[in-house]
Amino acid sequence: MLMHGDDDDEGARNGQPRAAAATTTNLRRISDQDRPLFEALMAEERGELPRRRHACTGRFLTMHKRRRKKLLTRSLALDQAILDDVLHGQVQCILDRVHHWRFNAFTLETVTGGRSLPVLCVHLFHWYGLLDHFNLDVVRVWKLFSLIEEGYHSTNPYHNSIHATDVTQAMHCFLQEKRILENLSPLEIMASLIGAVTHDLDHPGVNQPFLIATSNHLAALYENTSVLENHHWRSAIGCLLESGVAEQVQDIRPELEKQISSLILATDITRQQEFIGRFRDYLSRDALDMRDTTHRHFILQISLKCADISNPCRPWDISKKWSMKVCEEFFRQGDYERQLNLPVTSLCDRQSTTVPKIQTGFFKFVVTPLMDEWHRFLRTDLSHSMMHHLKYNQTQWESKLQAEINEETRTEISDAELLDEEDIDGADDEGGEDEGDDSHHLADLSDSSEALVPFAMATKFGLRS
Ligand SMILES: [Zn+2]
Repeated sequence: MLMHGDDDDEGARNGQPRAAAATTTNLRRISDQDRPLFEALMAEERGELPRRRHACTGRFLTMHKRRRKKLLTRSLALDQAILDDVLHGQVQCILDRVHHWRFNAFTLETVTGGRSLPVLCVHLFHWYGLLDHFNLDVVRVWKLFSLIEEGYHSTNPYHNSIHATDVTQAMHCFLQEKRILENLSPLEIMASLIGAVTHDLDHPGVNQPFLIATSNHLAALYENTSVLENHHWRSAIGCLLESGVAEQVQDIRPELEKQISSLILATDITRQQEFIGRFRDYLSRDALDMRDTTHRHFILQISLKCADISNPCRPWDISKKWSMKVCEEFFRQGDYERQLNLPVTSLCDRQSTTVPKIQTGFFKFVVTPLMDEWHRFLRTDLSHSMMHHLKYNQTQWESKLQAEINEETRTEISDAELLDEEDIDGADDEGGEDEGDDSHHLADLSDSSEALVPFAMATKFGLRS
């Protein structure tokens, strides 16, 4: 159901035309900041302004057909209905708490009727004063984020626009940290937000090795190097152009584009060791000077990398949901590989691996090494909270993995006992052996789960990009 307020329902019940009732209530709800957007959209709707040419065509993107979201709001005739949802009290309530780490992107997605990405981003552009500072047309900015939202594939279980919303909110939390914020320029803030929200734009839901193995045109276009990341940042530039925002920031455009591309390219998981090594080196020499532009940009790259893999650092109920979604996307790739008679990537094989196995490896080998350094850099309430959740969630997955191992062992023992009964009927020397087999089996399983992620990384498996 769409989230209309009680007063709207009242209007409808009293037989008032719905549009008129909604306009009145919306005007009452709109903050001064949002009023220009509302009025411009209404004027456009009434035909007082020429229709913008920057429609959400997404022409430069790929795989058009599978992508379009089925939004509740799109079934309604008026943009006003969208605004009605967008400006609803529940949305405002969540946006008021957007600085908190306990943020649930799925909830924002629900209360905005599927528009969490543009709602969050327009709110943050207002909040940071970017619209005023760069004198941006709010309607073009709204179009920019609508285009970006459309550029994500809603059919992907994980790499969709909700992941972009989540990463952007995490990035916003990091930008609020005193050590980072105090020296940031408006251009760096804008590049960070746009970089975060576009970092997986037009993600096809499969990884680079799959694109190469299937001779996808993207692999050829980017010569098998950071194929996805190169595509994401170029798609981001396409949205800036098509929305008309690029035209409005002509003087800073080269620098803005350079920063966006560099931030997105840093999210290539195969470059993880390179970044962690450099970060460790800076920290051990206490050499980071946040007044230095190069150092600041490096910290923004690290911030985006942390934001991108920060699901394990969220509260368990939210974190678990993300884990299930990313694994489902992996397993789908495994299914495609099987259908195409390609070797099935071990991490993507639902017949041989499980969510707890994937997650324990991901937590241990990918997330923890980066977050340890991030916490060393920040040492704030936020980083303490992230580490607390990370450790708690890890124990959750480890106990689930242990339960799986116990169950598997129990099943195998009972299978073995059945065989024993059949094969050695009447023999009386069956004591002791099961125990030995049991411990051996446990060791095998834990070894294989630990080997999982390094193997995946070595084969350039993009765990998250
Ligand atoms: Zn991502």
